[in-house]
Formats: sequence, structure tokens, C-alpha cells
Amino acid sequence: KTIIHLEDIRKSYFIGKNALPVLKGIRIDIMLNEYVALMGPSGSGKSTLMNILGCLDSPTSGTYVLNGHDVSKMEDNDLAEVRNKEIGFVFQQFNLMPRLSALENVAVPLIYAGISKKTREERAMSMLEKVGLGDRYHHKPNELSGGQCQRVAIARALINDPALILADEPTGNLDTKTSVEIMEIFGQIHASGNTVVLVTHEEDIADHARRIVRLRDGVIESDHINEKQLVDS
Ligand code: ADP
Ligand code: ADP
Repeated sequence: KTIIHLEDIRKSYFIGKNALPVLKGIRIDIMLNEYVALMGPSGSGKSTLMNILGCLDSPTSGTYVLNGHDVSKMEDNDLAEVRNKEIGFVFQQFNLMPRLSALENVAVPLIYAGISKKTREERAMSMLEKVGLGDRYHHKPNELSGGQCQRVAIARALINDPALILADEPTGNLDTKTSVEIMEIFGQIHASGNTVVLVTHEEDIADHARRIVRLRDGVIESDHINEKQLVDS
């Protein structure tokens, strides 16, 4: 089953009257439970493509079907609904709320889903346990290490049981050892049935994925199975 279908996606930014074409015809299909690393030089369009995949921005033209929804034709309100239901985001900067505990941060997406406080806390707790942070549930972000903050962010991304996890440089602020631990968690997420798309410029990080897509100058330069994972699995 296809979860992401992109057909001739183009995106230009307009600076005054001048159009800057950034994505120049992206065509790709990603199947349910794939694990894809998106690579490419700075400025090649990775963030722009991730913003479109995440329904944070719309393409200038082209078709995007996400889990059966034709999102390329949606208005902002509908787009936000699809985004909340279908997608979990993980960012380089963690993007946690500083005054909330780990547990409260993880539970935030459930507030919008209208779930009771007790149930929110139970589900957030079991999610924190899943990422190995059950004993730190009451800590605030500034009392946690970078790796622990990223675990909280991953638990938050998973709490609505989204079909798709999008991660933009999730290990960009972490040391090598912590990065490996975080990538192990992404491996577990993938193994438990989620679809994962992550942006990285590090080959070692991309090597955790099953499929590696390279962008260059707004087009897909290469798209292949990661042979390393092929022999490991
Ligand atoms: P990458 O993530 O691969 O570094 P980006 O998608 O961030 O690439 O950027 C691709 C190009 O689009 C760059 O030249 C960047 O300066 C430009 N760009 C990105 N976002 C905007 C924006 N909001 N407005 C104008 N130009 C942008
Ligand atoms: P990354 O490190 O992921 O490649 P960038 O540093 O290229 O990200 O861009 C960070 C953010 O700034 C992106 O969301 C992008 O849309 C925006 N951006 C990048 N270039 C420009 C630009 N020339 N004008 C306006 N916004 C930009």
C-alpha cells in the first residue's frame, strides 16, 4: 500500500516578482512501512520537500496523495486536520515546551484530540516507557540531556499513532553515541510498523534506513535500496 504518492511536484518561492524554482518535478512513491533517508547538499530542497510531505506547505503545482488523501488540493483547515491525524514530526531542535514536564510535552497532541487528562497521562507514560524514559517523566526539558529531549520529542510524535513519522536532521544536535541510540529508536519505530522519512546529511545516519533518496538542485538524483540494510535484515 502506498502512503506517499508525489507526481511532478514543483515548488517556487516568490521574492517580489521573481520566482525561485526550488523543487523542479519530484516524482516518488513511498510504501507503508518503508524507512527512507532523504539526502542532498545544502540548498537542494530537502527542507522544502519535507515541509510539503508534512502538509506544512503546499506545492506550487503537482499532486500529493498522503495515505489516500489528495492533500495537494486541500485548504489550510483540512490540511491541518490531515497533518494532526497522519503525521508525527521530529525536529533537530526538539521543539519541546520548556515549562512542561516530559509527560506533559508528550501528552500535548492528545489535548487537541479531546482526550481526558487521565487517559492522556496514561498514554503519554506508556509512550515514554517505550522510548526508555519512564523514570524521567516529571523532568522539564532543561533537566534532560539532548538525547533525552529527543526521546521525549519522539514519544510526542508517536502519541497519536500517526501513519508517517517525518524527522528533519533528528541527530543534528547530538553527539555520535547519543545519535546511535536515537537511530536505534527509529529502527524500533520502523520495526513496529511505522513509515519513517528522515533528512540527514550524514552517511552513517542514512545507513540506518532501508532506502536512500538523494536530491540535487530540486530533482531526485538517485533513489536506491540501502545495500547495507539489505544484508543485515
Ligand atoms: P535544503 O533543506 O536541502 O538545504 P531548502 O529546501 O532549505 O534546502 O532550500 C532550497 C532553496 O530554497 C535554497 O536556495 C533556499 O535558500 C530557498 N528557500 C527555502 N525556503 C525559502 C523561503 N521560505 N523563501 C525563499 N527561499 C527559500
Ligand atoms: P536546513 O538546515 O534544514 O537545510 P535551512 O537552514 O536551509 O534548513 O532553512 C531553514 C528554514 O529557513 C527552512 O524552513 C526554510 O524554509 C527557511 N529558509 C531557507 N532559506 C530561506 C530564504 N532564502 N528565505 C526565506 N526563508 C528561507
